[in-house]
Amino acid sequence: MTRRKLVAGNWKMNSGPGSDDLRAIDEVANRATVDVALCPPATMIQQVHAIAPNVWIGGQDCHAAKSGAFTGWLSAEMVRNAGAAMVIVGHSERRAFAGETDGDVRGKAEAALRAGLLPIICVGESEQQRASGNHVATVLAQIDASLPAASDERVIVAYEPVWAIGTGRTATPDQAQQAHAFIRDQLTKLFSPEVSAKVRIQYGGSVKPNNAAELMSQADIDGALVGGASLDPRAFSDIVHAARAVHG
Ligand code: PEP
Repeated sequence: MTRRKLVAGNWKMNSGPGSDDLRAIDEVANRATVDVALCPPATMIQQVHAIAPNVWIGGQDCHAAKSGAFTGWLSAEMVRNAGAAMVIVGHSERRAFAGETDGDVRGKAEAALRAGLLPIICVGESEQQRASGNHVATVLAQIDASLPAASDERVIVAYEPVWAIGTGRTATPDQAQQAHAFIRDQLTKLFSPEVSAKVRIQYGGSVKPNNAAELMSQADIDGALVGGASLDPRAFSDIVHAARAVHG
């Protein structure tokens, strides 16, 4: 089963590259045999979508409810209507700084699917959880409680060890592959072998041009969720090229 690799850039609360650089990324995406996505701040979704039509656009979060008295939030439908095709949910920064629980993340992922968005559901252990040997149990518990009960191949999982995010410390290809393999086993148990074989599992955590190819050549690593390097158009394009080179 060949899963199409997905390289997604998460700009976080940054304005990202300018228009000329976005057009260059769009050109790379247009020629790529992999999926390329950018997740700008929500206020920029329409603009980035207009400049880079060959790039999938993702939101960085959405609310679980369809509408209501939730000042400052955006529903999944609003994110979709702005031009997004996917949305990140449960990023570790939201889990840490906004106190999001697995239950919250599941609600957001369900809302995303209802709105026609592909949810990129983030999971990953802390440094302490890995050091104490609890990383497998931690990540599996997140998978069990964060993914919608009726998940199918529209769901994308991003395995992002918290200790690797923004630190320059990347999981080794072996560490990442091991984690992706046990996540995929769990998807088989929770859903079905067919769904598990189709769900894309991205790796995130200090992915750079110099480590992208080795990570993405692992059997169960179906692309990358890229933070810091997605703000550098050359580095991001090089990561897309690396995905293309290993995609086969
Ligand atoms: C992220 O925030 O999802 C991420 C992977 O960041 P970075 O690539 O900077 O580690």
